[in-house]
Amino acid sequence: MTTAILSALPEEQSSLVAHLAHSQRLMHAGRAFWLGDLHGRRVVLALSGIGKVAAATTATALIERFGVARIIFTGVAGGVGDGVNVGDVVVAQDYIQHDMDASPLFPRWEVPGYARSRMACDVGLSALLLEAAGACVSSAGSQFGLKPQALFTSQTPPHRAHHGLVASGDRFVCAAEEVQRMRSALEGAGHHVLAVEMEGAAVAQVCHDYGIPFAAARTISDRADDTAHVDFPLFVTTVASRYAEHMVLAFLQKL
Ligand code: SAH
Repeated sequence: MTTAILSALPEEQSSLVAHLAHSQRLMHAGRAFWLGDLHGRRVVLALSGIGKVAAATTATALIERFGVARIIFTGVAGGVGDGVNVGDVVVAQDYIQHDMDASPLFPRWEVPGYARSRMACDVGLSALLLEAAGACVSSAGSQFGLKPQALFTSQTPPHRAHHGLVASGDRFVCAAEEVQRMRSALEGAGHHVLAVEMEGAAVAQVCHDYGIPFAAARTISDRADDTAHVDFPLFVTTVASRYAEHMVLAFLQKL
């Protein structure tokens, strides 16, 4: 049984590749896939690419070409829910595409042909990922050492692991006003979004099509607000890879 570990960014993948035993790199569909053993588990590591279409292609290749039994996604995201702060982790319960809108033919956010707007993640895998995320955030301060002043101040509350709805769309959200608009529209329809990113909903939909269990953990790199374009690269270059490494290794131990 092979587990696919998808990362959004090379910075998040590099430490996982370094831990890989018996590694083999294969090119397929213009992408690199790393096969090997991680903590005694057979895995394939891949970069999703950025945005929904790239992520859907990668997920399809993982299933069709590499026959993976499950897909786990680790990446970063913008925190939009109340109390979802930089350095927290959000484990997705389900996914919505915030830019899906075929109204008035279909209700806003509904994925045509699926009779639903949300794609659920696998309950069992998500529970394991949430445990791994909880352990990771509680030791983040002491273990990761690097604490960029701009992101983690003495006022920063203790990091938390959250579980809930994540929204994906083909845009980097970096305006407080846009977050407000997105949140109030979605909340009006009963969708309480914790975080926003650009790939997860596409992978969730592909996994739904193939009946493959999927779970995702997103570390909060920014608040999707007017400083997101500064916070995001700082977080990615300093701490994102350590989060991904700790979370994935803890998860594989529990699997
Ligand atoms: N050129 C950049 C592109 C990053 S796009 C780079 O390669 O460094 C941002 C990535 O982080 C996407 O994978 C997305 O899923 C996630 N992300 C983090 N914060 C986000 C935000 N505020 N809005 C949308 N996506 C975000």
